[in-house]
Amino acid sequence: MSRAEPTGDAAMSGAEPTGGPGVVAQPAAGPAVGAEPAGGPVTVRALVARGRGAELRVERVRLPAPGPGEVRVTIRAAGVCHSDLSMVNGTLAATFPLVLGHEATGVVAEAGAGTRLPIGTPVVLNWAPACRACWWCRHDEPWLCAANTTPTVARGETEDGIPLHLTLGLGALAEAVVVPESAVVPIPAGLPAEQAALLGCAVLTGVGAVGNTARVAPGESVAVIGLGGVGLAVLAAARRAGATTILAVDVAEAKRELALAAGATDFLLSDDRLSKEVRARTEGRGVDHAFECVGRAATIRAAWRLTRRGGAVTVVGMGAKDDMVSLGALDIFHSARTLRSSVYGSSDPDREVPVLATELADGTLDLRVLVSGTIGLDEAATAFDRLARGEGARWVVTLD
Ligand SMILES: [Zn+2]
Ligand SMILES: [Zn+2]
Repeated sequence: MSRAEPTGDAAMSGAEPTGGPGVVAQPAAGPAVGAEPAGGPVTVRALVARGRGAELRVERVRLPAPGPGEVRVTIRAAGVCHSDLSMVNGTLAATFPLVLGHEATGVVAEAGAGTRLPIGTPVVLNWAPACRACWWCRHDEPWLCAANTTPTVARGETEDGIPLHLTLGLGALAEAVVVPESAVVPIPAGLPAEQAALLGCAVLTGVGAVGNTARVAPGESVAVIGLGGVGLAVLAAARRAGATTILAVDVAEAKRELALAAGATDFLLSDDRLSKEVRARTEGRGVDHAFECVGRAATIRAAWRLTRRGGAVTVVGMGAKDDMVSLGALDIFHSARTLRSSVYGSSDPDREVPVLATELADGTLDLRVLVSGTIGLDEAATAFDRLARGEGARWVVTLD
């Protein structure tokens, strides 16, 4: 979902939210794809954006063999997350051609020198692998690791020889990825792939925002604005945390049933009566916690207004760098509210994904409500259209 960016300005410098049509790179002459000796580069099918706003296409791309400390993972299922859409539409800075996808599960298929995981290990991908050495890692904030500074990472090449870039260092909407071993987390075998994939972004982000960042306590009241995969995961996590008033807010009435199924106690349309409706359900105060899962200044302000004096606003959505939030100086003081963000659920995926995976295995965590449907890689582009229209929860691409 969101990504640690200690050098935010540099990392986001290419973001132009009102960008025009995509720039399609011209194919350059390159070596033909020949036979692939064992242990060499592999050619896989992947969902590629050739430029901002360009049509998404499944292409054959060449990935290098895993080097020291790296593994190749055969992808079994990958979710289509809003951050992928933000890469394509220009809300986030991206370098093209770009393989999309950063929320996936798969199996270790090849291991480079010095790696620990055996071939065949089921894993979930982690888009913010911690270096365990920087100031943030040493101070128990691995989600802010200084090693994760750019939204796209160069790796591999297109079939016509153009250097390829990977979304959040993964490029998981593909038959395989080659990543540092630190970017995979082992999970138990036999989990439903379309649910396990979501552990790597939407679920970890939602569960972490509620448990780690906001620390929602039993009996508290919660509002969640924006009911995509992450917002629905926040609703479910708030329910598990024991919140008793859980208000789901979206512009689309079609999200009502999904929200109630995910754990909301009420659904409210995001319109000019919203603040009044929330206060009517919280004895006039406003909620203890508001979660903004859209990534826009307007909805951050809305979340601020829904929250009680002394309450907390947690920004989970990743917005554009020039979308400015305006708050009154007196309001900030008098309301005594806290405004903070939750990057990757303020989580340590190496520690928390295995816990969630175990709960998925024993049935205490049920993510079926988050999966709107499974599709093949060739249909993945249609999932982006549905996402842009705000339809459903998560569409998951399955590859076996
Ligand atoms: Zn995501
Ligand atoms: Zn670090």
